[in-house]
Amino acid sequence: MSLLHVDKLSASHGQLPAVRGIEFTVDEGEIVALVGANGAGKTTLLRTIAGAHRADRGRVVFDGVEVTGLPAHRRVAAGISLVPEGRRLFPTMSVEENLRVGASAARPGEWSVTRVLDAFPQLQPLRRRRAGELSGGQQQAVAIGRALMANPRILLLDEISLGLSPKAVDGVYASLRILIDARVTLILVEQDLGRTLATADRILCLLEGRIVAAGRADEMSREQVMAHYFGTREAA
Ligand code: ATP
Repeated sequence: MSLLHVDKLSASHGQLPAVRGIEFTVDEGEIVALVGANGAGKTTLLRTIAGAHRADRGRVVFDGVEVTGLPAHRRVAAGISLVPEGRRLFPTMSVEENLRVGASAARPGEWSVTRVLDAFPQLQPLRRRRAGELSGGQQQAVAIGRALMANPRILLLDEISLGLSPKAVDGVYASLRILIDARVTLILVEQDLGRTLATADRILCLLEGRIVAAGRADEMSREQVMAHYFGTREAA
């Protein structure tokens, strides 16, 4: 059985449909990337899976249990954690306090402040520093660490490279490797196609709220993904 089954899911912003009947599954330990142009519906899809946005139709089934009607904190307790676009830390709270916020609806498990600081060693000396004083890369590491404190079974990562320097992105991805090795299941939204293809097992291409192509990352070329990205498949 799949860990996550997204079943004909639709979501909108007012009158505007953003996610239109999306269907896919994710297996335990898999890394699935959502690829698509701005406005394709990637963020809305992740937020709807996490319970931060209401579904209009369809179902989210996690580990065989339907969670579509559950509020976000109940989904966190079930094992679904979102690292939101823009990080959304508490800027006046310390790194450690931000991490502890992530444990508030946590499932029992191995992640702790110490383990997060082991996975993100760049945060070790910054433990008592206010989150608002950190660099973008350091803040992103805190945002991922905060999500890990809930001991997720699946982690939804929304544009974790956005606004970061190439060096900071390298640091964040080096730490992701630790999660991948620990077989944390990931759904990744990432603008950097090279990194996406190198990291993911499977790619889902979104266009105007629908999945228009799907395949194994090692069987899809950059050109094929780009063609789906812009909806010019015949160009591939
Ligand atoms: P991006 O890469 O820009 O984040 P995305 O693929 O994540 O894009 P969404 O942010 O989910 O796409 O947006 C899907 C559609 O919903 C777009 O047409 C967008 O304009 C619209 N939308 C997103 N957020 C809102 C909002 N808060 N209010 C109204 N419309 C929104």
